[in-house]
Amino acid sequence: MDISLKNYINGMWVTSHSCELLDVVNPATGGIIANVPSGSADDVKEAAGLAHQAWRSWRNTPATKRIQYLFRMKQILEENANEIAEICTTECGKTLSESKAEIIRAVENIEVACGIPKLLQSDYSEDISEGIDEYCVRQPLGVGACISPFNFPIMIPFWFMPYAIACGNTFIVKPSEKVPMTMTRIFELFEALNLPAGVLNMVHGGKAAVDAILENPLIPSISFVGSSSVARYIYRTGVEHGKRIQAQGGAKNPVVIMPDADIETTVKIVADSAFGCAGQRCLAASIVITVGNAGELFPKLIVEAAKNRKTGNGLDPAIEMGPVITTASRERIEKIIKNGEDEGASILLDGRYLKVKGFEGGNFIGPTILSNINPESELFNTEIFGPVVTIINCDTLDEAIEIINKSRYGNSACIFTRSGAAARKFRHDVLAGNIGINIGIAAPMAFFPFSGWKESFFGDLHGQSMHAIEFYTQTKVVIERWHDEWSRKF
Ligand code: NAD
Repeated sequence: MDISLKNYINGMWVTSHSCELLDVVNPATGGIIANVPSGSADDVKEAAGLAHQAWRSWRNTPATKRIQYLFRMKQILEENANEIAEICTTECGKTLSESKAEIIRAVENIEVACGIPKLLQSDYSEDISEGIDEYCVRQPLGVGACISPFNFPIMIPFWFMPYAIACGNTFIVKPSEKVPMTMTRIFELFEALNLPAGVLNMVHGGKAAVDAILENPLIPSISFVGSSSVARYIYRTGVEHGKRIQAQGGAKNPVVIMPDADIETTVKIVADSAFGCAGQRCLAASIVITVGNAGELFPKLIVEAAKNRKTGNGLDPAIEMGPVITTASRERIEKIIKNGEDEGASILLDGRYLKVKGFEGGNFIGPTILSNINPESELFNTEIFGPVVTIINCDTLDEAIEIINKSRYGNSACIFTRSGAAARKFRHDVLAGNIGINIGIAAPMAFFPFSGWKESFFGDLHGQSMHAIEFYTQTKVVIERWHDEWSRKF
């Protein structure tokens, strides 16, 4: 199939200045399904220039009018959910129901952003001194840009974009070059919004496009989601260029299972958390720390729950787990497992080298579970981003918390227990931004910030919620004096 994707700039589909094209590959078949430009600084320059021009009138459009476009945006996503989900599954590999769940999350963010006329309301103090009033207004920054990862092609740009434009910014989306088709289709559908040209733009590409965004003086704010090493680079380079940056990074999420946990329910929730989206989720359970005698039953039960998980092409509704994104990613995961095995880890369930009939070119790995892990090993400390769970056992909750807090990551941590005191201690002492208590995926709703600590986040204000509104606006404090006698002249 020959589909060469175009950028969307100033209300038009335009061919990239970049001559190099990258293949977009269906991870379930290995087939090439499109080509995407590798990106160029000229594309970004053009998009930023025209988005900046559009911003001059968009910032003066009343917020009540700006959000009318968002109401329609929500409707378009909902009306076209099946088609969008199918494209997402085809290029990203996740199951259809996982793709549809992304759309729900995207819509929830649009709904929160629809409250912006109220959420932008300012503080006002009368008579701070006799006849003098003071107030604070929030104004948009200009052109915002988001750079997104491959694993949530639909949802992640919506952590940022609806808030940015509702606050009066114009915006550039830079999808992952591995999964550029879904956002391209969403932009085609969004043409029906009749947004003023330049308010919403999309530039494709990889590092070249990202570097041009980082250096462009007309883009004052950047929202990034991806791996920690790139997040750190984005933060450092963006700040050097005087930009406001929020950069969400990688994760290695621990789950603690206390001896009093409801073990049956816990096993089911942990299996869904670890193997949903083939483990390619920044909130996926990756390390299980069993405390005391939870270590006797849990490993056997999770193997039972995982071993029959149907792995295959996510377009088939019977499939419970799709492939990982690329062949390189599959090989990397297999290598980490092998290294762990060489260091003495026991493999309780081995999903490596899985071949799915009819999809021999796919990047499949079945659920994999390991125990007897050395806490210093690569297996224990590296973000694997695949359907792999490592189990270790310890004697006390204190020990479990100590292990968790040594991690370089701090995206999420979950505990399963019936004890309020244990849960309270856990949520209070653990160094992570999202805590789950008897919850496997501690994903915040759109009206809460999508938090993240340590190397899982670089910046101050997170995506979603009031954080997004603060990120995309700057405050202006006005102090004014009106002499009473002036009113008597009329
Ligand atoms: P990635 O870091 O490889 O890519 C993310 C984006 O950065 C892409 O748009 C890519 O084009 C760009 N990029 C890649 N390398 C770059 C470089 N050297 N210089 C400049 N730009 C570059 O991440 P990925 O593999 O697409 O996504 C998976 C990662 O994202 C995982 O680490 C996962 O934990 C993380 N993630 C985090 C969250 C969160 O909320 N914290 C959510 C989803 C995914």
